[in-house]
Amino acid sequence: MVDELRQKGITDESVLKAIETVPRHLFLDKAFLERAYQNKPFPIGKGQTISHPFTVAYQSELLQIKSGEKVLEIGTGSGYQACILDLLGAKVYSIERHEVLFQKSRDLIKKLGFNKIRCFYGDGFEGLPGFAPFDKIIITAAAPIIPDKLLQQLAIGGKMVIPLGEGNKQKMLRLTKTSDHDYAHEAFEDFLFVPMLQGTEK
Ligand code: SAH
Repeated sequence: MVDELRQKGITDESVLKAIETVPRHLFLDKAFLERAYQNKPFPIGKGQTISHPFTVAYQSELLQIKSGEKVLEIGTGSGYQACILDLLGAKVYSIERHEVLFQKSRDLIKKLGFNKIRCFYGDGFEGLPGFAPFDKIIITAAAPIIPDKLLQQLAIGGKMVIPLGEGNKQKMLRLTKTSDHDYAHEAFEDFLFVPMLQGTEK
């Protein structure tokens, strides 16, 4: 799988190493086990999916994580991306809006020994004001807008990686906060994510 990611243009060795280290099959429902190492998304329950390994690698690379940085993830899902971020040296805070997925991924993350990752049940549009500012923010669902509260919770000089847009394609953006009220942005490839939704669900 790592060779395939290299071929597709992922060059950050620490990202490739993290992907090689985390056993992706543990994050998948049993029915999909034999396909765990193909470069495909999989259902994780509640109509949600674990992202393509390429998407996880791509977003992780764009984040340019340095050891010790505080990273907020929106959409814990299976917990896979959170574990990759942890291995990259991030202090990970991850929010999930589906209570069942939140409990499942929190328990799995703990069981795998990723004790530093902090999981929260809540609406990612609100962020975690009590833990802000964050050095990096990663949104792993299709954001209809750039959430204002998340921009506010980003440190100056911090970066947000966000798949922006509704429908069947999102533009991957990297925002860099340049002052309290300004940010620069860079645009990358198109991706397809499940929607980022308001509120929480049982
Ligand atoms: N990072 C995940 C990808 C999960 S798919 C992984 O590695 O598996 C996207 C996830 O975002 C879904 O679990 C979905 O429930 C969640 N989500 C969507 N909108 C959200 C919101 N407003 N706040 C928190 N989580 C959200």
